[in-house]
Amino acid sequence: MALPPIAILGAGPSGLTLARLLCLSSIPYTIFEREETAHARDYQGGTLDLHHATGQAALKEAGLFDRFKDLSRWDATTMIANKEGRVLVSLAPEGDEDARPEIDRKELRRLLLDSIPAESVRWASRVKEVTKELDRTMSVHLENGKVEAGFRLVVGADGACSKARSLVTSATLKYSGMHYLTSSIPTTSPHYRNVKALIGNGNYLALGSGKGIVAQRMGDGSYTANACLHLPEHWKTETNYMANPSKLRTWLLHDCFADWAKVNTDLIKHSEAGFRTWILYGLSEEDVHWEHVPGVTLVGDAAHVTPPSGEGVNAAMYDSLSLARLIIQHGIDNLDLAVTEYEKALFPRAVEHIKAGKMDELLFGDDAPYVWLRTVGIDVDGQEKRSGGEKVKMSEIELLGS
Ligand SMILES: Cc1cc2nc3c(=O)[nH]c(=O)nc-3n(C[C@H](O)[C@H](O)[C@H](O)COP(=O)(O)OP(=O)(O)OC[C@H]3O[C@@H](n4cnc5c(N)ncnc54)[C@H](O)[C@@H]3O)c2cc1C
Repeated sequence: MALPPIAILGAGPSGLTLARLLCLSSIPYTIFEREETAHARDYQGGTLDLHHATGQAALKEAGLFDRFKDLSRWDATTMIANKEGRVLVSLAPEGDEDARPEIDRKELRRLLLDSIPAESVRWASRVKEVTKELDRTMSVHLENGKVEAGFRLVVGADGACSKARSLVTSATLKYSGMHYLTSSIPTTSPHYRNVKALIGNGNYLALGSGKGIVAQRMGDGSYTANACLHLPEHWKTETNYMANPSKLRTWLLHDCFADWAKVNTDLIKHSEAGFRTWILYGLSEEDVHWEHVPGVTLVGDAAHVTPPSGEGVNAAMYDSLSLARLIIQHGIDNLDLAVTEYEKALFPRAVEHIKAGKMDELLFGDDAPYVWLRTVGIDVDGQEKRSGGEKVKMSEIELLGS
């Protein structure tokens, strides 16, 4: 069977959004995804908030917005507390444009996957390398030894460790210094009622002394519980904590968060499952500009990964919206023109995205959360004034004054 002209590496939010939009215009493509099946990592990943002008816009153009509305939580409030457990501000959406509805990562994947033909995704296809051939076509080399050749365009939508990135830039990932250790509080937990009363349908971020305890409501009613810590890059392999969740929990409570309020540490104490680590990497501003290389481009985290800033999935889906529009506009015989125009618009957007990712340094700085709150325009000089958890419109929050 003839191969389609476009290969998409990765069935994450960016790859699947691009696939859906191309599919609507009958432009053929194949996705190569390393995971074994669509549900291989359902147990992973928390919730993602989709923004009006980016993530939601992509879903609208993809014809999936109504279904998204059913699957997402529109009343999610984000509370910022200090390590003493006092809620300083409560970020509440007001109106549709301000709203940042939350959707479980696995539900977003399911929504997108259900909208494209099942046979367009090649599961268990971990990409090892992408090469350019003498006839200018692109080949995708898989870890299992297979080589798929003859593509006119390879789109790297394969996240932070993209196998397509080295074709366009020598940029390498920088470790941010942060690990998130994620566990879960199920609905059956004896502590569940307290967590629900504290967090409701939204998110709770307790920040201070360069650390954080973050909890998020999931679609099934459970809560994720995250310990956010500055740790050595190879902490996971240099210690044996991950193999022993109860030892890890004790270490977190007694060594890392010993002087934190009970309302915060209870979120770790009453978490039940094992932990998953997120080791956070980023690219720098200089990395998100390259000379156009015909036959290959990047979208999403592959192009501009940053530590979580609440923008990543939105930027990723918007990249795909932007690229799909140009491919559709110029047609399958002018892919190079489409990609050139896409990248011209991508680079300044990506720089802004990387700047927003630096929010991480403020969220987990020594004087957190106060420095961050001031930076985004919330005056917390009179900390007592905010002790009631004053409500602030989402639109008042402008990351790093951007
Ligand atoms: C802990 C954490 C919390 C976050 N919270 C938020 C949030 O609240 N809001 C937000 O907007 N963003 C958030 N982000 C960022 C967001 O998850 C990413 O920006 C977004 O997922 C990027 O989408 P993507 O499709 O570009 O890449 P990914 O989501 O990384 O998808 C890449 C896909 O490619 C596949 N893949 C990888 N390598 C290969 C390979 N070699 N061969 C084949 N397939 C491969 C992967 O399995 C995956 O399916 C968070 C990130 C982290 C780590």
